[in-house]
Amino acid sequence: MQLIDTHCHLDFEVFAVDRAQVMARAQALGVEHFIVPAVQQSSWQSLVALFHQQDCVDIALGMHPMFMSAHSEAHIEMLDHALEQQRPLAVGEIGLDFYAPESDRQGQLLLFRAQLQLAAKHQLPVILHVRKAHDEVLQCLRDIPVIAGIVHAFNGSIQQAQHYIGMNFKLGFGGMLTYSHSSKLRALAQQLTLNAIVLETDAPDMTVMQHRGQRNSPEYLPYCLKALAAVRQQSEEVIAEATSENARQVLGLN
Ligand SMILES: [Zn+2]
Repeated sequence: MQLIDTHCHLDFEVFAVDRAQVMARAQALGVEHFIVPAVQQSSWQSLVALFHQQDCVDIALGMHPMFMSAHSEAHIEMLDHALEQQRPLAVGEIGLDFYAPESDRQGQLLLFRAQLQLAAKHQLPVILHVRKAHDEVLQCLRDIPVIAGIVHAFNGSIQQAQHYIGMNFKLGFGGMLTYSHSSKLRALAQQLTLNAIVLETDAPDMTVMQHRGQRNSPEYLPYCLKALAAVRQQSEEVIAEATSENARQVLGLN
């Protein structure tokens, strides 16, 4: 079984002491490849270093909407250069997060649209973070089409999912599926066509039920696989093969 964790923040400080061991344990459980998206400009250099050190790691470069105070206009130009020079797999993680009422919506929209433009310019897929803003994100994607992408930790409606799928996007599902109270999310994961789904942990956040309260890790991706297989009443082998193929296809991984 070859699984791909399409969203894990292995560069974060919480993995500083045992990053290599975490990756080795995950690989022993069949999690063969890790996609690590950036959250802010100051992390790009260490992400690029991680990418060069580890064959099993691919990276995305970008600016996350929940870290607005870390971003500046100069970073847009720097991202343009970094995409040219480093050729990461994707632009990410980018998007809109309107969860907090006090969020800087105008600033987020400007930043998101600028990064979509760069993704279009460099012909790269995007890794999206979207909370309480799917309709706004879909509108931005209609205005500024990109080649493909993943909506990470998808939490929208089936209709919104169909709109993303029509724009060559896959939807990321992870640890939340392991909780029995996630009935809306489980229903969605059951209804969607399998070729629209990719697996992710979002480590170190959103830990699976089996390790609740602990640091999340890509080594827990098999729990997400198990939960998705149970919800869809399909075998783990079928789900593993399809979701990994979906990830390879959408991100242009060989
Ligand atoms: Zn993330």
